Amino acid sequence: MRIGVIDIQGDVDEHLNMFKLLDDHIDIVRIKDAGMVSYCDGIVIPGGESTTIGKGLKKKGMFDEIKDFGMSGKPIMGTCAGLILLSKEVYREERDDLIGLLDICVERNSYGRQKESFETEVCLNYNDCKKMFNAVFIRAPVIKKVGNNVTVLAKYNNNPIAVMEKNVIGLCFHPELSNDLTFHDIFLKLVRSNLKNKD
Ligand code: GLN
Repeated sequence: MRIGVIDIQGDVDEHLNMFKLLDDHIDIVRIKDAGMVSYCDGIVIPGGESTTIGKGLKKKGMFDEIKDFGMSGKPIMGTCAGLILLSKEVYREERDDLIGLLDICVERNSYGRQKESFETEVCLNYNDCKKMFNAVFIRAPVIKKVGNNVTVLAKYNNNPIAVMEKNVIGLCFHPELSNDLTFHDIFLKLVRSNLKNKD
């Protein structure tokens, strides 16, 4: 099993470490260039600056590869800036770098600026997994609207902060910056079950 973390800018090392902590035997790779995405079984788009990552994806020819990867049913997880890029719409912005696999509308930086970053315990509700987890918010987007096929896995202040549509998971916060492996574990399980269904 191979997991790729998109390495244009942002929290790449942190994601790599989380997967290593969970399972030392899986192949975890950095994806810096076109041609590698299709060799992965699951990919992560990290937090960072969505405009910078989006520009990089286009410039390097990785944008369509990621879109095709997701459309083919393979698992993708986006955190913060990654969630923004996976969404269909950004409130009051015209963007040409949205991969559009999550039917949601997000408003950027809506939980406040860098200095208003915060951590909080929130409740996860995913299949039979119901537990509290630690969520770190840094210039996080607010999910303003979700489509009918989107499942909300967690909320904060009544706004969705973790969503899933088929094979795609989007998180407003940064699981890679906490000690909490919950979401990386959920993602690995999704990748494993996707691989099993192919056999
Ligand atoms: N505010 C950033 C953006 O719009 C996302 C912040 C983050 O990933 N921590 O891209």
